[in-house]
Amino acid sequence: MKWLARLLQILLYGLRMVIRIPLPETTEGHFLQETLARQLKKHGLKRVLFVTDNNVLNLPPVQAYVSALKNHAMDVTLYTEVHPNPHLDDVEKAYSIYHKHSCQAIIGLGGGSVMDCAKGVAAKVARPKPLPQLKGLLKVRKKTPLMWMIPTTAGTGSEATVAAVISNPLTKEKYAISDPVLVPRYALLDTALVETLPPRITAFTGMDALTHAMEAFLNRYHTPFSRQAALDAFSLIYTHLAVSVANPRDLDHRRAMLKASYLAGCAFTRDYVGYVHGLAHPLGGFYDYPHGLANAILLPHVLTAYGPSIYPKLAYLYRHVKMGEEANPQKQALAVITWIQHLNTTFQFPHDFQDVIQPDDIPLMVKRCQQEVIPFYPVPRYLSSTTLIHLYESLARRS
Ligand SMILES: [Zn+2]
Repeated sequence: MKWLARLLQILLYGLRMVIRIPLPETTEGHFLQETLARQLKKHGLKRVLFVTDNNVLNLPPVQAYVSALKNHAMDVTLYTEVHPNPHLDDVEKAYSIYHKHSCQAIIGLGGGSVMDCAKGVAAKVARPKPLPQLKGLLKVRKKTPLMWMIPTTAGTGSEATVAAVISNPLTKEKYAISDPVLVPRYALLDTALVETLPPRITAFTGMDALTHAMEAFLNRYHTPFSRQAALDAFSLIYTHLAVSVANPRDLDHRRAMLKASYLAGCAFTRDYVGYVHGLAHPLGGFYDYPHGLANAILLPHVLTAYGPSIYPKLAYLYRHVKMGEEANPQKQALAVITWIQHLNTTFQFPHDFQDVIQPDDIPLMVKRCQQEVIPFYPVPRYLSSTTLIHLYESLARRS
């Protein structure tokens, strides 16, 4: 069946040449609330659903957005009850509020969960079906309300992607609704919103962006644009992530990481992710484990499991960022994996998922991983279910 999956991936690659994935109109700056108000006015929009979460709502830069819209006589309806790994119910509730207040546009200001919830609402407005029926590729196919995505973390890249990732707590599933109509019309990359992000969250989310860039780059099919976006994102993360964690108030590093996250989003929404995300999503679905942290822990293990098949591309990344003086390509490749391990140590991340993964859950988690990866992701090579079981088992054990 794997050859069929490869054939599907080639067809999807061909389809990407025909179905254009739009790019959001992007504005970078510090305090962009007036830009948002101006853009809404340009479209004659007065009533907006503003999706955010209670953790950030009272922060002064977020309040500046709400106040600016009210000062411009906009009718702002807030929805703030978004779970981490947004639940189906979050989207359903926000959708009914959207209708109750006759909203005309959707703003998602927050991390990946908030933006995915906001995009889920847009999918439902366009195609008012039960959300599970929109799971998968190209199930929306209708014009959505205009969307603005304003990230408060530099990692998810949801402001650039075709997907809304939603969790179903009853089935412990985490799945994507993917359609080019879910790329927001506007993305505002505002350093004021990330300036006070705690170092630990900066580190988690930055590692998510790194995983997006690397998985997209290591996959088999690219357009020249998506390949360059992945390389540029990797380069920015290599230069700015660790210093951004160490110097939170330095806006140059914050700006670079917001850009990196956006570019990595552009890359993976075209070239997909791989086994790191395939293994991380069940950790979110089963245990609500933070997505970026799951990716950070898994990334060096999955790269090692891919083996020599990815060495040429890892060595390319090593040379691209001038990581060191090593001349041997295999050693260059291994140095990239060592660099990631070093980042995880610097950020004081756990080495494993001890006391998180329950051994009885592993067979279903591996099944979900393979179901996610095998049809669509053009991974460098397939990993057997036995390999994946061993990988989860080794990380579930006390190391
Ligand atoms: Zn991710």
